[in-house]
Amino acid sequence: MNLKKYNWWMVSALTLIPIIGIFGTVLYSYQNGIVWQEPLLFILGWWFAGMGITFGYHRLFAHRSFKAHPIIQFIALIFGSAAIQNSVIKWSSDHRVHHRKLDTEEDPYSITKGFWHAHIGWILEKKDSQIKGVKDLQNNKLLQWQHKHYFKIAITVSFLLPMMLGSIYGRPFGGLLWGGFLKLTLVHHFTFFINSLCHYAGKKTFDPTTTARDSWWVAFFTFGEGYHNYHHKFQWDYRNGVSWYAFDPGKWSIKFLSWFGLTKDIRTVSEYHILMARLEGMKNSMQANYTSLPEKIKLNYQIKLNNFYDNASKIVELWKEVEKDFNELKRSKITNKFQLNILKQKRKLYRTEFAGIIHGFTAIMISIKSGNYSF
Ligand SMILES: [Zn+2]
Ligand SMILES: [Zn+2]
Repeated sequence: MNLKKYNWWMVSALTLIPIIGIFGTVLYSYQNGIVWQEPLLFILGWWFAGMGITFGYHRLFAHRSFKAHPIIQFIALIFGSAAIQNSVIKWSSDHRVHHRKLDTEEDPYSITKGFWHAHIGWILEKKDSQIKGVKDLQNNKLLQWQHKHYFKIAITVSFLLPMMLGSIYGRPFGGLLWGGFLKLTLVHHFTFFINSLCHYAGKKTFDPTTTARDSWWVAFFTFGEGYHNYHHKFQWDYRNGVSWYAFDPGKWSIKFLSWFGLTKDIRTVSEYHILMARLEGMKNSMQANYTSLPEKIKLNYQIKLNNFYDNASKIVELWKEVEKDFNELKRSKITNKFQLNILKQKRKLYRTEFAGIIHGFTAIMISIKSGNYSF
């Protein structure tokens, strides 16, 4: 082990924070009891810092998947600073490289260098902190200010604030432990899990060619960020959990604020693109299972799959036209209910037809896996 490659200040900080956060809080609570304000400080602190990262650092600044009013930008970067994960400019620089150079030598938290490296090892290593590919963010006055004063802002909101709140009810040290150290331990490691676990365990629904995976239970602890295979496939989409039932508070808050004009120009990927990506993903992973099949059966399946795929492509072309008409209708601002209903019916029909194709694909996949080739 090459000890010289580590930044020992960083190693000490990231070792002490969870030790104080977990053991310090347990010991303090054992000796002084727990008052209701402290778990509340912890939950709120975790929520605000985590949302600052998800909503602000990640989706607003790094990916620009929507625009936000300067007040919202300010709140997001203050909340995000409490997560102590560096300034928006530095964070986004690393994150954009992660997307551009995924799974290569240049990926700052590449899983190909192991789980530990992707989780925390990359932060502990001594390296030149180059900032690149974030000119747009470097031109933002608010972000320049945060970058310049990052350390002071982060310490104030992450540690001093919960300590001050603790002193209101007479326990500054309790506030610091629950709302500062314990909160930070969880915020840190759950964010780190997105880089490690989400490139390690879960489903590759939309793109089987990358290491990124969808994991609903990581999403549950990371404000929706666990749907990482989808995110790597469509990084500009403001949603990570794309299904309506997916747990994604990041997505909900962006949408909610848009009703008040505080967020706008929200970017989404069209439904037919998403369905097509899912189909392509299924096709690719099925072909990986082909090799062991007898030649005749392989050919039979191939024909069936190609037919399904051709039908899907035809539906997508028709669907595109419908969406174009939808947009034109919206732009014209004339409410033509009859035409709108026809378009809605068409969209519904294509959705159903697509579901049938995905069903057919799934049936073939099951028959290949089970070795029952009667399909
Ligand atoms: Zn990733
Ligand atoms: Zn991202």
